[in-house]
Amino acid sequence: MVIVMAPAGGDSDVAEVIAHVEAAGGEAFVSRGVNRTIVGVVGDERVLASIDLGQLPSVAEVVRITSPYKLVSQEHHAGTSTVMVGGVPIGPDTVTLIAGPCAVETPEQTLAAARMAREAGAALLRGGAYKPRTSPYAFQGLGLAGLRILAEVSAEVGMPAVTEVVDAADVDVVAEHAAMLQVGARNMQNFTLLQAVGGVGRPVLLKRGLTATYEEWLMAAEYIAQRGNLDIVLCERGIRTYETATRNTLDVAAVPMIRAMSHLPIIVDPSHAAGRRDLVLPLARAGIAAGADGLIVDVHAHPEAALVDGAQALVGESLAELAAVLQTMPALMGRTLAAPLPA
Ligand code: PEP
Ligand code: MN
Repeated sequence: MVIVMAPAGGDSDVAEVIAHVEAAGGEAFVSRGVNRTIVGVVGDERVLASIDLGQLPSVAEVVRITSPYKLVSQEHHAGTSTVMVGGVPIGPDTVTLIAGPCAVETPEQTLAAARMAREAGAALLRGGAYKPRTSPYAFQGLGLAGLRILAEVSAEVGMPAVTEVVDAADVDVVAEHAAMLQVGARNMQNFTLLQAVGGVGRPVLLKRGLTATYEEWLMAAEYIAQRGNLDIVLCERGIRTYETATRNTLDVAAVPMIRAMSHLPIIVDPSHAAGRRDLVLPLARAGIAAGADGLIVDVHAHPEAALVDGAQALVGESLAELAAVLQTMPALMGRTLAAPLPA
């Protein structure tokens, strides 16, 4: 069961609701979103039936939810939410491009990629400072030094930054340097990390795990929501199949399926799905055509010298082609390209 508080309700109203829930033997979890406060109730049928909220004016709605993910479900909130990232929307009215280097390597490399990204229509800057690498011998990212570079470049080009956090202990420092925290595919079920990003007051980009079902993915999102953070954007980044010609297999059906199951916006990562530059554009088009709320793509001025994922980074003509697609396709989907903030 989910109790949606009236917009005007204050802390004392929430405390009153919690008292009712606990008196009935249930457990209450408060989620404070930008627009609304929600109290999720956990308890068996008998407990739920005995909770009497009477005519509390501070309660807008009591929703019985049958899906296992309550706060992120369509049942709870019809339609698609808009998540604001440093003033840039990701939601149903726009196509938002997030672009930048896979990893922050140097200030110059990050700035060059950011300028290319903005020129192509990106409103948000990506760039990893903590890189979850398959090999322990591969470049692991610059850590805090990388966060500082990212924050400086972000301010310089006027693009709020999206960056990955791989450890719950780093959540605060990452949140100080970036507008949005990314939880990567390999950490989709790192429940401690999900709870930590749920409590930090920054929007979260939750990538789909390599073998995760839609339900597992939404349950992971529920961990974040349950800690009070409803500003979650899902990212389909390809799943593992038996095909080896591509890095992963983009599951385009995830876009309409998630749309039917959840109110969270969903974007597509054609770069990590394909692992090959020549496939990024077709998969980007497929994502937008399927109804994605945005794209996240890797960009690098010198892909041949990139420390991470150069083979999939857009540059030159491939980036210009993406920019051209973004000038035409959003309108076909009844959307606009999310505009960059003033530089
Ligand atoms: C990334 O976006 O840099 C990344 C590591 O992605 P994923 O977690 O989807 O592999
Ligand atoms: Mn990458």
